[in-house]
Amino acid sequence: MLTRYGTSTQETYAYSLVDHLNWLHVNNRSPISITLDDLRRYMKGVTGQADGIFGVAWRDPDKKPLGASAAGNVATMVKAYYLSLEATGEVRPDLVKALTAGRSFTGQGRSKRSVESNPLAPRKGSRRPRFLPNEVVEALFEPGVLTMARDVMIVTWLHDSGLRVGGLCGLRFCDLHLTRHHPCGQRADPHVHVVGRDDNPNGARAKSYVAAEPSKDGYTVDGVIRAVSDDMISTFYAYLLDEFHPVQHLVDHEQILVHPAGATAGAALHTDGVRKMLGRACRRAGLDIRVLPHAFRHKAAAGLYAESDFNPDLVAQEFGWASPSMVTEVYGKSANREAMKHLQRAWNATARPPTEPYLAPSRAGEANS
Ligand SMILES: [Zn+2]
Repeated sequence: MLTRYGTSTQETYAYSLVDHLNWLHVNNRSPISITLDDLRRYMKGVTGQADGIFGVAWRDPDKKPLGASAAGNVATMVKAYYLSLEATGEVRPDLVKALTAGRSFTGQGRSKRSVESNPLAPRKGSRRPRFLPNEVVEALFEPGVLTMARDVMIVTWLHDSGLRVGGLCGLRFCDLHLTRHHPCGQRADPHVHVVGRDDNPNGARAKSYVAAEPSKDGYTVDGVIRAVSDDMISTFYAYLLDEFHPVQHLVDHEQILVHPAGATAGAALHTDGVRKMLGRACRRAGLDIRVLPHAFRHKAAAGLYAESDFNPDLVAQEFGWASPSMVTEVYGKSANREAMKHLQRAWNATARPPTEPYLAPSRAGEANS
């Protein structure tokens, strides 16, 4: 049954199979007696959610419970194992039926393919990103929280453009086309080109989709072309004058973001430096949360999506995503906004009596206590 998988996958599945056979052995069970409920208990055992009836004793207690992705592999293996026993009649027919019940067809025309859901597979977590609230951004811009012009520039750029931190640290001076009608000729408004390069001294690398070559006249072209806000431009110049120019003689590379002081002054700033800077800023702001650079990207993309009246094509193009479906997958469909309107109408139309008379006394009580 393992032959249709690649070598390393075969190995993973083989370990899972051994683990499962151990479980059968320890519990003195043979495959023919196993039901779907038994297998669900087994899955709970490997993911650390065992209810204690059985399913723990066969495992090394030091072995960590499996995460969702590894548990998905185990579910695939267990299902394949029991289905493989069907030919020899060593499995309950109702188990086979239960394991294959989720078979469905998706797609249209020739691309029609069978997609089987596995009742043993762990439920996938939501892909919805965590929301970065405005209050957190405001707190970061309180006086004394960001201690350098460079850091004000970094947070402003992350926030307004939603650039990936690798793309931001990888920016070179030649990538900034901050004038209208820049001679690169690729966007009328001030913009930057986010291009992938493998030779950045700070190891920063923009996730790139097209390899960009400078044009004949030497300007950076192509890459992902991102518009820049007025605040991005002004914070860049403030950093340039206050902190970059004083150490410029130490700079032997083309990156924009550098260490402005200390033993490493002039060295290109690493993406990890940005993460640590955000950590320090959060502590200074008294924020009890960890703000990662990517949170700004989600905020910027979600914000543009809403402001563009939920136009996934526009957001995908601006952020350099290959397909608009990546936008709708992560940020939902415009139907979400409509949903609230319809829900409100449904709630208003409900036959349930208004809650105010019941709530009023307890509210009054709270006010007096
Ligand atoms: Zn340009």
